[in-house]
Amino acid sequence: MERCLITGASRGVGRAIAVRLAREGRILLLHGRDRKALDESCRMVHDKGAVAMALQADISTLAGIEELVAMVGQDDLNFLVNNAGVAHVGPFEQTTPKQWQETLAVNISAPFWLIQKLYLRMKPGSAVVNILSVAAHTAFPRWSSYCMSKSALEGLTRSLREELRPRGIRVINVYPQAAATALWDKIEGTWSKDKMLPPEEIAEAVVYAVERPGQVQVDSISLGHIEGNQ
Ligand code: NAP
Repeated sequence: MERCLITGASRGVGRAIAVRLAREGRILLLHGRDRKALDESCRMVHDKGAVAMALQADISTLAGIEELVAMVGQDDLNFLVNNAGVAHVGPFEQTTPKQWQETLAVNISAPFWLIQKLYLRMKPGSAVVNILSVAAHTAFPRWSSYCMSKSALEGLTRSLREELRPRGIRVINVYPQAAATALWDKIEGTWSKDKMLPPEEIAEAVVYAVERPGQVQVDSISLGHIEGNQ
């Protein structure tokens, strides 16, 4: 059985990735905080023939990350998808220390510690997928902490790609433009979800990359709506 851990799989992009990865012969370890939403993700994955397990942990703290790693267990891990993320959007002078710290913790530190604590369970041909954003490369006013976090995650994961290459572990970075998820519901402004990527398309890109033969390294995939950035 292939084992896949997806962080932030309780909704949005993470749930779409889980559903698209689901098939017989796979165990999907679905991480998040919201138990009810995680149970719904598990049901959707189970309907597609995979074994699903909900792993509830707050990964904004090292203690939460360690709890998650303990729940993952010692068996081999084929795919680690670092998807969980937060976006605090607003004028930079109004960013609070709590928002800044949460952005650092969830968007940058959690992927780092998860890769460090799990890579020994990953055999040649396995893959780490990081869900970044066009914000890693593009300047958006009011999104400074988010852009910072995705740029930092890019620098981190490009280095880890080279460090893990000799072990045959592929590190794949995905750069979506805006995707139609609940993330936008709490962001001030008028956003047209019709002009955003369906999260299922991001999932499709992830599955394409991880399902290449083990010796094929897909470095990065960028994707967006034909109408461009929101
Ligand atoms: P979302 O709907 O807001 O979902 C975020 C997910 O992250 C949820 O499953 C949430 O879990 C989890 N999460 C957040 N903080 C957490 C914490 N402290 N501990 C554990 N889990 C936590 O966001 P999304 O749109 O699906 O985004 C997913 C990823 O795609 C993010 O990395 C985001 O930056 C990236 N992305 C999104 C877009 C977009 O336009 N939506 C575009 C480019 C990239 P709970 O709800 O269970 O707490």
